Amino acid sequence: MFKKILIANRGEIAVRVIRACKEMGVQTVAVYSTADAEALHVKLADEAYCIGGPRPQDSYLNGDAILTVAAASGATAIHPGYGFLSENAAFARQCRECGVVFVGPAPEVIERMGDKDAARRTARAAGVPVVPGCDLLESAEAAEAEAARIGCSVLIKARSGGGGRGIRKVERLADVGRAFTEARAEAEAAFGDGACYMEKFVAPAHHVEVQVLADAHGNVVTLGERECSVQRRNQKLLEESPAPCLDGRDDVRERMYEAARSLARAVGYEGAGTIEYLYTDNGQFYFMEMNTRLQVEHPVTEFVTDIDLVKWQLRIAAGVAFPYTQDELAPAKRAHAIECRINAEGPGPDYLPSCGTVENLHVPGGPWVRFDSALYPGALVPPYYDSMLGKLIVRAGTREEAVRKMRSALTELEVDGVQENSDLQLDILANPEFLSGIYHTNLMEHLYES
Ligand code: ADP
Ligand code: ADP
Ligand code: MG
Repeated sequence: MFKKILIANRGEIAVRVIRACKEMGVQTVAVYSTADAEALHVKLADEAYCIGGPRPQDSYLNGDAILTVAAASGATAIHPGYGFLSENAAFARQCRECGVVFVGPAPEVIERMGDKDAARRTARAAGVPVVPGCDLLESAEAAEAEAARIGCSVLIKARSGGGGRGIRKVERLADVGRAFTEARAEAEAAFGDGACYMEKFVAPAHHVEVQVLADAHGNVVTLGERECSVQRRNQKLLEESPAPCLDGRDDVRERMYEAARSLARAVGYEGAGTIEYLYTDNGQFYFMEMNTRLQVEHPVTEFVTDIDLVKWQLRIAAGVAFPYTQDELAPAKRAHAIECRINAEGPGPDYLPSCGTVENLHVPGGPWVRFDSALYPGALVPPYYDSMLGKLIVRAGTREEAVRKMRSALTELEVDGVQENSDLQLDILANPEFLSGIYHTNLMEHLYES
């Protein structure tokens, strides 16, 4: 195992990784921006180094500064968390050149799967069904022709998009050309890469994703699925495992798992990764993308499998073989986990991000109640980064009990000083459609109608 690792991230995920390291006896090095001098990850790490100004490009995206700190501190591995440099193949390559282990798959694999258009081709070649659509679009005319072939509605997607950004829905053929030109310009500005492709808009559909873990010795396992259809603007708000829409559909489940494993094998995947699918109620599923990193919602999987994904990421990166076979990984009987993302935001309809200083904090507790965050009384929530303050995760024996437990935990949670969205989460947990277990990615659009 590594003696010392650097955590190239901030917020709850940096804290999550530091805690795993402490339990494993690994020393930790934090990096931070000038806006995060008092942040929890800085306080908890054994060493911490300021690497630049608040803007991400000056600090958490500054690969050179991060590698300089790794060299100076003697850290031999870098955990990138999610977001920032976690899916940056050039950074993973730079780590390799500097002799530092990047905790994640090889740069070649990140390239193949991180590019969403290339990933579609790889999935197809591995025999995994993909959403009907097309390859990269050269022009507005080409976009119009493809949309006519695919049939509206369609989504124009940026190859380099992520975090729900870089996706544009077009409902009428007549609007496709203009939408394409706009989408390309937006993608160029946001991701420095204007390349876009198109997919059929599949609805009603579920976002169901499968957790994969693969080691350097050829072991590839799946750790169940997560239902992530509660989304606003294509961003997840609440996740659960197992997926209620797959109740009684173990055949489909198994095919989704098998497809995920073959895709991971086909690209020589190493580490933790997620295969995202769209699933329709007639039993069809389509590959959407692969996230070649740890995911925000990984705790729901940890709660139903008893596998610590962060510790396994570190062990796999250090060359340890994963010891359990797929058969030994049967999910815990009678376990259901739910996660609610607690975001700093004002009440609707704009849900504007909120920032400020946390004045008072009460965190719910009890068995199988977990709050992953970087909050403490006095913590500053700066305006420069992701608006997620933390994640509340519960596990219970049944879905009904998990819902009640989450309600009770959300009601207890108190964050004074910044506005947060636990009331919205409570509304979701009271929604009849959500409670039925069969809800789709459009749930939030009619949350307040039923
Ligand atoms: P998950 O798939 O783990 O639920 P999200 O889609 O919520 O992840 O994204 C996790 C974090 O990574 C968010 O902070 C999001 O803003 C960020 N992120 C993901 N992809 C990109 C990208 N291509 N560009 C910028 N930020 C991204
Ligand atoms: P990101 O990289 O931003 O996570 P995804 O390709 O995973 O982008 O899409 C984000 C969300 O957008 C999905 O979870 C789903 O709700 C919706 N979505 C994406 N593609 C489609 C599609 N072809 N049809 C319907 N909804 C889609
Ligand atoms: Mg996605």
